[in-house]
Amino acid sequence: MFIYHFQDQLDNIESKVPFLGNKGVNLIKMKAMGIPVPDCFVIDSRLCGIYLKDSSSISIEILDSIKSAIKKIELSSGLKFGSPEKPLLFSVRSGSQISMPGMMDTVLNLGMNDKIADGLAKYTNNKRFALDTYRRFLQMYGNVIKNIPHYIFDNILHNIKHKAGVVLDSSLDIESLMLVISKFKNAIYNNTGNKIPEDVYEQLTEAIKAVFKSWNNARAIKYREIKNIPDNIYTAITIQMMVYGNINNNSATGVLFSRNPATGEKSIFGEYLLNAQGEDVVAGTRDTIPITSSSNDRKNTLEYVMPNVFSQLKQITNKLEAYYKDMQDIEFTIQDGKLYILQTRSGKRSINAAIKIAVDMVMEGLINKTKALTSIEPKDLDSILHPVLDQKVKKNVLCTGLAASPGAACGKIALSSKNISNPNENYILVRKETSPEDIEGMNIACGILTTRGGVTSHAAVVTRGMGKPCVCGASSIIINQSEKYLSIGELKIKEGDTITIDGSTGEIMLDAIKMVQPQLSENFFILLQWAKENSQLKVYANADSAHDISVALKMGADGIGLCRTEHMFFASDRIPYLRQAIIAKEESLQKLANAKILSIQKEDFCKMFKAANGKPLNIRLLDPPLHEFMPKDQEGIDNLAVLCNESVQKINIKIDALQESNPMLGNRGCRLGILNPSIYITQINAIFEAAIIVYKEGISINPGIMIPLISTEHEVLTILAYINEAHANIKNKYGIDIKHRIGVMIELPRAALKASKIAPLVDFFSFGTNDLTQTVYGFSRDDTAETVKKYLEFNIMDFNPFIKLDEDGVGALITMAAENGWLTNHNLEVGICGEHGGNSETIEFLIKNRMHYTSCSPYRIPIMIISTAVKILKKNW
Ligand code: PEP
Ligand code: MG
Repeated sequence: MFIYHFQDQLDNIESKVPFLGNKGVNLIKMKAMGIPVPDCFVIDSRLCGIYLKDSSSISIEILDSIKSAIKKIELSSGLKFGSPEKPLLFSVRSGSQISMPGMMDTVLNLGMNDKIADGLAKYTNNKRFALDTYRRFLQMYGNVIKNIPHYIFDNILHNIKHKAGVVLDSSLDIESLMLVISKFKNAIYNNTGNKIPEDVYEQLTEAIKAVFKSWNNARAIKYREIKNIPDNIYTAITIQMMVYGNINNNSATGVLFSRNPATGEKSIFGEYLLNAQGEDVVAGTRDTIPITSSSNDRKNTLEYVMPNVFSQLKQITNKLEAYYKDMQDIEFTIQDGKLYILQTRSGKRSINAAIKIAVDMVMEGLINKTKALTSIEPKDLDSILHPVLDQKVKKNVLCTGLAASPGAACGKIALSSKNISNPNENYILVRKETSPEDIEGMNIACGILTTRGGVTSHAAVVTRGMGKPCVCGASSIIINQSEKYLSIGELKIKEGDTITIDGSTGEIMLDAIKMVQPQLSENFFILLQWAKENSQLKVYANADSAHDISVALKMGADGIGLCRTEHMFFASDRIPYLRQAIIAKEESLQKLANAKILSIQKEDFCKMFKAANGKPLNIRLLDPPLHEFMPKDQEGIDNLAVLCNESVQKINIKIDALQESNPMLGNRGCRLGILNPSIYITQINAIFEAAIIVYKEGISINPGIMIPLISTEHEVLTILAYINEAHANIKNKYGIDIKHRIGVMIELPRAALKASKIAPLVDFFSFGTNDLTQTVYGFSRDDTAETVKKYLEFNIMDFNPFIKLDEDGVGALITMAAENGWLTNHNLEVGICGEHGGNSETIEFLIKNRMHYTSCSPYRIPIMIISTAVKILKKNW
């Protein structure tokens, strides 16, 4: 019970992973495969649980089982634990069912005292090796078992090496090593008041307890928290006979990956050290040497130095990879020319390597597509879709805002879009908040930083669509527009100085930080295609231009779920006409503006229908919060006065009259179309006219017209009347009946509550979860970022509901509205298009609630497609 010897016959070994850990089970499997593995036994992880909970001692029965397991090793090895004549030493290693590399403790070379060290010297006829092994044990005993800080041993070693005039531990001679040993012993005595136990079983018991306790050290607890690993699975312990890579120059130790963990290339990748033990490779105390290399500098590689061992290692690597059907991370030791494998496990890899390995292994017939897809961590894909900061570079974070649009960017600070002048420069546009007037600057800038606003603010929504990094609501930054600088606490940063922003973390840093640029390989698209074959949820794009549609389709989109037409008026040569249509009093001027809007939109929609090429294209009628669209600067106001044939003073009065206390709850969405029908009618005509043109060219079209911000069925009926009339007119004029779908945005609670009445009037519901979150909570999406931040700090909220869908509240309303909608319209298509549509955490909710689609910015699409497939294949809900 609780102790498994490696020669024990274990049925159904896979099911023992929770008790023996991956390391233990893999050693047993390797032994069964005939791979040279040093003899070992494993202590069950349940014992760790019992030890940590109930007692601080290990029972006599367990100790007896440990002794009989050791006996077996003694018999097969011809060595004896505690014997100076034929010394047997052990490694004591942690190993849970989920790999936690480097988080817990290990004790090596256990079973030493002065006599055994002498005996080891005689037995191996190698005093230097025996002393080197002894000092390693003392160091680990002191540090791991007695918690004496590392630096105390490091300093002793450093001083003695310095005195001896050597750089490497391996260059220390016998006298120096003896000095190290005596100083290490003193350090242990001085720090604990005790000498190390002479009795090797006592040493072993102490080591077992220390490794069990390391389950609860601070770094292991943190790691489990980050990786969502339960605390109650505990660690097993593998006790393995030592083999020595530090015995002579025909000995070595190393770590290898069966494929390159950075690129995924199918070739052994790893490093080793001659005359060393495993910690030397990981500790970085010596410069490691590549195991194999294609460069000229091959002379020191293992392949060159020990060709026979290398070819054996290569064979074993291939065998292990074929068995585990995954890239392996293998630790090995060569003791006087004989190879031993100490450990194999699935290797950690970069996302690019993960994609290449997954696709290659399917092509090699090693794994199927399901295994390939589930080997990918979808959230890691962000780093290949956007530039990211080079992890190797140290960063000095000045402050943090909200991570609003992923990716990193660096550039000169521009405090206004007008100051973005040099097309060859990189700029970060820094604004309190952005408005359509900033759009040209946003278009040229490589990143956006705002000091106000949340993750569904204008800046966030627009940059996500553009695929540009954005940090929002960085409230510790104060912008001084007149004197042209930013201040963060005491620090002043001038306009024109360079900063870096990371839209994936919300961090802001001074100067330019090195980045890694995105790259999408052919393998990425192969994997994407496999994911699409396994996904039942359609993934649409939020796209406002033909270019965005093309990007979205390339990224795997099934169609366009949301085209925000107000975004199509952002450009400075367009926005005046929208303003003119809203403000002009004279009918003739309004007509002029609408004629211009008709021609602009017709051209846009033609291009977009062509780009969509028969895929659904849901065009939303104008939904501008009016405050965002009115000019703020004098030049804009003067221009508008000319266009409307009014005095500047009158224009100012009209703009003032349009100011609302709560613009996000004001004259937005269909309310604008009802109070000012000509703009909506113009847009509807533009959609039908464009559809006719493209249809006549023989290109398939699938138009959807979407009505925003509805709250009553009467609003829907009013806009439907415009659509039906325009449709009938076009049919009469061209003799062509343009098939179209009509949808409504359900983004106000009343619309959700009246779903059964609204559903029969339309073909689809698109839940606008940004506005729905705003209105269900009564939190303004533009103003309450600070409150939400504080609520998170105070634990009043567990998450930001503008980022992660509030399934209990907002989600409950969505479920109810969808169910009620289907009661009265069985064919109703239902999906979401708010920012939650691009968050993979929403997928489970969507599938469970039988939603047909999600819609998100083009650069989130691959993540949503792959996440959906992975979740469905893993069935992890
Ligand atoms: C929404 O409210 O979720 C939505 C998609 O519309 P917008 O963000 O444009 O208001
Ligand atoms: Mg909305």
